Amino acid sequence: MVETLRVELGDRSYDIRIGQGLLGRAGAEIAPLLVRPRVAVVTDENVAALHLETLQAGFAAAGIEMVSLVLPAGEATKAWPEFSRTVEWLLAQKVERGDVVVAFGGGVIGDLVGFAAAVLRRGVRFVQIPTSLLAQVDSSVGGKTGINAPQGKNLIGAFHQPSLVLADIAVLGTLTARDFLAGYGEVVKYGMLGDLDFFEWLEVNGTALAAGDMTLRAEAVRRSCQAKADIVSRDETEQGERALLNLGHTFCHALEAATGYSDRLLHGEGVAIGCALAFEVSSRLGLCSQEDPSRIRAHLRAMGTKVDLADIAGDLPDTDTLIALMGQDKKVTDGTINYIMARGIGQAFVTSDVDANVVKSVLSDALSSR
Ligand code: NAD
Repeated sequence: MVETLRVELGDRSYDIRIGQGLLGRAGAEIAPLLVRPRVAVVTDENVAALHLETLQAGFAAAGIEMVSLVLPAGEATKAWPEFSRTVEWLLAQKVERGDVVVAFGGGVIGDLVGFAAAVLRRGVRFVQIPTSLLAQVDSSVGGKTGINAPQGKNLIGAFHQPSLVLADIAVLGTLTARDFLAGYGEVVKYGMLGDLDFFEWLEVNGTALAAGDMTLRAEAVRRSCQAKADIVSRDETEQGERALLNLGHTFCHALEAATGYSDRLLHGEGVAIGCALAFEVSSRLGLCSQEDPSRIRAHLRAMGTKVDLADIAGDLPDTDTLIALMGQDKKVTDGTINYIMARGIGQAFVTSDVDANVVKSVLSDALSSR
């Protein structure tokens, strides 16, 4: 069964299609968008090895020719060198203004290829075919595209909405357990930020979902995409509410920078740790109960994902350095960090009114328990 959600953005509205077997029928799904039967696909080497043939067959079945570029896998790809290589490859392939570029992979590929599509010939359309859990529930929806700078995460980019998102949940079966759980960090984030009922559903169903139950996986992807689509429709360019999606991200981005964007810490793992820290700060500020951070940590522990700074291998910088790294966040305005805090699970809000000493003491306690 394929379900369709709609991201309502006026003339930039698009469908998110969620179901099993969508790769094999990608040609039929995308054909209505094409002005000629040809697509340029950019992917990474892991996804290419496992799923590119199926995708190619899916296009061929609808008489669509596919050319493809395979990039190295991993966060380091999301930077200028592979970005310029991608743009130049698309130009060499003579991708025209009316053509459609396909981002086929996890969040790294989606972000990089979306940004390439945004700037190629001043903007061509693109389709997201997300293959990681993280990309299916988060990065493929909403139009944030970009690459990392030496100064920090995602600092170079553009808003560029896809024309269609095809989330084939069957491909999640080939993810490593670690990558699946990293994506789960973003799933549980939706519960923590705005939907206690979803958080409770995950407490009950999380383990079975991670173990491979397809019905539960489809439900988790659908509920996550619906939450994101609703927020993006109301606040596309993050003037307000969309910032809630960054729950845990100020901490996460600092930790990713501190670990050199390496596989010491995957993005979704950083989100889980960051959310636990955000609830700890909220609790110490008296905004939410002390039970909330404990409950969150208990669920993340039960899922087997990273929860604490102690779960990150190797050295971490001291508290002041981490705070300085947080200051590079895009959510800094006029030198002040805007935090996402919570009045309880499912009740996040944006505020700059956070005592820096409390953040400092939470971080130094977390570092000293390593
Ligand atoms: P990723 O793209 O590096 O994918 C994780 C790993 O899984 C990679 O090794 C990849 O090759 C592999 N993989 C992907 N699909 C697979 C499959 N079906 N089978 C086997 N292996 C597969 O990372 P990610 O976790 O998908 O995304 C993280 C990125 O997303 C970060 O750069 C983050 O900043 C970005 N992000 C963007 C947004 C947004 O709104 N644009 C939101 C959240 C995260």
